[in-house]
Amino acid sequence: MPTPSRLVPRIQRVTTFVGVGVILVAVVFLASQLYLRTQVTTVHEVNYTELRQLVEGGAGASLVVDGELLVVTKTDGVQAQAVVTDSMAQQEIIRVFNQNHQTIEFRSRQPGALSSVVNWGITLFALGVLGFVGWRVYASMGGGTSDFKVNDEGGARGVTFADVAGVDEAKSELSETIDFLRDPERFGRLGGRAPRGILLSGPPGTGKTLLARAAACEAGVPFLSVSGSSFQEKFAGLGASRVRKLFAKARESAPCVVFIDEIDALGRRRGRGGDSASADQDQTLNQLLIEMDGFSQTNGIVVIASTNRPDILDQALTRPGRFDREITVNLADVRGREAILNVHARKLKLAEGLELGWIARGTPGFSGADLANLLNEAAIFATRDNSEAVAREHVEYARDKILMGVERRGFLMDEDERYATAVHEAGHVAVGLAAKHGDPIHKVSILPRGRALGVTQSLPERDRFMKKREYLEDQIAILLGGRAAEQVLLETMTAGASNDIERAVEMARAMVSEYGMSPLGPIHLGKPEDPHSQALLDRIEHATSEIINAQMKRACEVVSSSREEIARLVEGLMERDTLEADEIKECFNLRAGAQAA
Ligand code: ADP
Ligand code: ZN
Repeated sequence: MPTPSRLVPRIQRVTTFVGVGVILVAVVFLASQLYLRTQVTTVHEVNYTELRQLVEGGAGASLVVDGELLVVTKTDGVQAQAVVTDSMAQQEIIRVFNQNHQTIEFRSRQPGALSSVVNWGITLFALGVLGFVGWRVYASMGGGTSDFKVNDEGGARGVTFADVAGVDEAKSELSETIDFLRDPERFGRLGGRAPRGILLSGPPGTGKTLLARAAACEAGVPFLSVSGSSFQEKFAGLGASRVRKLFAKARESAPCVVFIDEIDALGRRRGRGGDSASADQDQTLNQLLIEMDGFSQTNGIVVIASTNRPDILDQALTRPGRFDREITVNLADVRGREAILNVHARKLKLAEGLELGWIARGTPGFSGADLANLLNEAAIFATRDNSEAVAREHVEYARDKILMGVERRGFLMDEDERYATAVHEAGHVAVGLAAKHGDPIHKVSILPRGRALGVTQSLPERDRFMKKREYLEDQIAILLGGRAAEQVLLETMTAGASNDIERAVEMARAMVSEYGMSPLGPIHLGKPEDPHSQALLDRIEHATSEIINAQMKRACEVVSSSREEIARLVEGLMERDTLEADEIKECFNLRAGAQAA
């Protein structure tokens, strides 16, 4: 359930299967139409005389009169039809059937005609849909030009370096590239080595795409962008051909910037598995390497790629002449965050007393994208609030929403569930207050948000660049505090603690296997695909559970020794749903400011 630190929702790409559904429906429909039509072709067209002979010979078993159309089904099941416009002649045939007491059916003309129009309409529509879908598939297979986006007007929507803040190092590293793009030939004459491949690495949302776009714009050249993942999940061999097409287009548009987002999707280490998907990816990557090697010093194409997993890239990608320059784009520090907020606040009206510096201080760990999102949410909330300007409370609301998820007001818990949740959250808070190295508790709530039933929110009071062993141990204890409270105070356990436990165990495992903070000493497991000895893995699991058990014991001790405080906090939560830092401290008899939040 509740989680004592950040919960930043990631926007997930949703794949719709609507397209597939439409194709299926269209195919089934066309098939049924075809079937119906082939049925109809077993009807023999005859003239009136033949029809009459047939009927008088006694071969007719039943008759359908469909306006001017007479359809006779013979005793052997074969049908014969004739158009008989003359009503006297029609009467003649009907009379014979009547004499023989055979079935006659009259159909009204109108609906038949209408329904056939509708039928044809639907058939044509289905054909149209099939055609459209086919064309899209063809286009996405590399047949069309919709493969990659080209922004000609000097790089995309006029994004300039002024729109990218808090990444000054990256900007200055890119300035040489911009000089090159402005005048590739002069750059070559002066003996400069053209930077052709730049790798931007860093966490998502830090502005890598924005930087590449702005570089193109500053140089006044076209910006071709493509996502590495778009080379995947294609039919075999198509990835490589798309790479060829991309670079053909780049040579046409040179000087230009080619931007490959998420290059790790196609630039993973080659030759991992024997399956065809990875073989195809290898082929795509080889093609990319060939294209990059084929650049001459002066052709004016700069390829910028971005990744948040530089460690998994194939080493061939970072050889000289390829992506030989790596620029790390990090999460901004407090001053960087303020600068980024400045960029995004330009189009907003801020209330007096709302300082961007204050927002920046309260948002450690937020990426540029998170900050843009924060201001956007705050603006939406201010509008909904009918406010003139964006004020502090709007920003606070938006931050809670981003950190903890949206409140689900319609979701009702019964009193027992609310109580259990309050105890669980109070456990996190109690351990959080007792832990000296953890982040200060900022807020606790038993209003269900997102998938969680309750939330304990803590915010680091400063940017944490280094995580000490004590900090990690405290974090684990805080995560386990909820379960500890359930166990000690409710004498039960809820499944809601599963997310806490998962995160605690992950943290403990990283302490053992990555940070060397266990009796096993500094060990390194290497890449997941490398072979590991089972004995080592067993020892890691053992050391991990030792950390977990020790912290669980500690959390239980804290909870047992603060029963009274926890009871007060639970009471407050049952009454008011959400408690702020000061109210929390009151329950724990702490001076306000003792554990500043
Ligand atoms: P990345 O490519 O690193 O995942 P993006 O460049 O796509 O990140 O950033 C997404 C959005 O977040 C940008 O369009 C911009 O609105 C905002 N943003 C991210 N970083 C910055 C920054 N350094 N300065 C200003 N805005 C930023
Ligand atoms: Zn919890």
